[in-house]
Amino acid sequence: MYSKIATAVEKHGKLILDTERYIWKNPETGFREWKTSKYLAEIFEKLGYKPTMAGDIPGFYTDIDTGRPGPRVLILGELDALICSEHPEADPETHVVHCCGHNAQCAALVGIAAALREEGMLDEFCGSVRLCAVPAEEGIEIAFRQKLREQGVISYYGGKAEFLHRGYFDGVDIAFMIHTTTGDHAVIRKGSVGNIRKAVRYIGVAAHAGGSPSKGINALYAANLGLSAINALRETFREADLIRVHPIITNGGAVVNAIPSNVTLESYVRGKTLEAVERENKKINRALIGAAISMGARIEINDKPGYYPLSNDDNLIELTREAMEYVLGANRVKVDRGVSTGSTDMGDLSAVMPVIHPYMPGATGTPHGSDYYITDPHTACIDSAKVQLIMLHKLLSDHAARANYIIENKKVCFASKEEYFARIQKLDAEGERVKYLDNGEIMVLPL
Ligand SMILES: [Zn+2]
Ligand SMILES: [Zn+2]
Repeated sequence: MYSKIATAVEKHGKLILDTERYIWKNPETGFREWKTSKYLAEIFEKLGYKPTMAGDIPGFYTDIDTGRPGPRVLILGELDALICSEHPEADPETHVVHCCGHNAQCAALVGIAAALREEGMLDEFCGSVRLCAVPAEEGIEIAFRQKLREQGVISYYGGKAEFLHRGYFDGVDIAFMIHTTTGDHAVIRKGSVGNIRKAVRYIGVAAHAGGSPSKGINALYAANLGLSAINALRETFREADLIRVHPIITNGGAVVNAIPSNVTLESYVRGKTLEAVERENKKINRALIGAAISMGARIEINDKPGYYPLSNDDNLIELTREAMEYVLGANRVKVDRGVSTGSTDMGDLSAVMPVIHPYMPGATGTPHGSDYYITDPHTACIDSAKVQLIMLHKLLSDHAARANYIIENKKVCFASKEEYFARIQKLDAEGERVKYLDNGEIMVLPL
């Protein structure tokens, strides 16, 4: 059967590689992937699928029912790109480029969709498969997502949490995807850290920078103090918690001859457990607030749940290893029990269902960097599709014995998505954090 799977994928090799090139050349950031989503949906339609479009945001899903009872397996492809203006192939206007290789995931998803339409492919399967093109994995452009949230379009900043919230993954028992990586080896890790997203605004008082700076309150200096205070806290982070804080200034002032009165920052606070992220985030907010007070500036802090720590299912790790070794050879697959300090919204799904988020080679350069390219699209897209179909076969053949075993033995943190969302909702806090009273007292406002 595995050679039949490989042949079915290879038959659509041109379609897969064309998809990879088209999406590379038409990159879009999260919740803006309209062109990519439409392009893929049209391919799915040509293949005979009827994609259910998310509608007010990009992305879609479609089901393949074998007609035999059994579990539902979700396979994902991520639509979004990043912003990296130094990348030679970045879009000259938007500076957007696929320097995380999600274009290869979409191409592999097309390969899976095409191969599953081939004669006899579903004969040994039971249950059903949901293929999903999902938006907005990269946690960027927080202000834009904040606006979408205020408009009532989205409730969560990550595409997978948003799709989960909308019910697009209801009834799904197991989920997986394959990300592209650099180097020669496929890599399967135990998981990755989770995070909180943070948008901060320091509000000062504008004044003529030359003529009357004494009348101003410099929001940029307040922000600088905030960043220094965070840096001073770093040695208090416990190594086991894998805390990462990496703020950027998204607006540092309007005009050079006025004291900056409106300065904005964005950051993540990442960590191995939600508890560690929450604990350290409190210290970081204290540092940011203290900096505002030192300058007499106001401060708004907008914290939103980012991604839940990813925990790959142990049985799925083994199953993925087998499939990757079949396609790439045993010497090209590494299983690493450690936790990566990147984050992915696959973590949100891992909170409620067994998932796996492994990596296939095929790229070179630095992920998210200016030298990142898909240099071996055959491995990144075509072999990835083969691996995923073999994984699917291992799960759903033999009356779905392995899928059922994985479901029965799953170790997830939350019994339902409602329970999960209620928990991460506790991370959601926004508003002004300091009040200067007429009597000279300063109040730090709890949220
Ligand atoms: Zn990325
Ligand atoms: Zn990525």
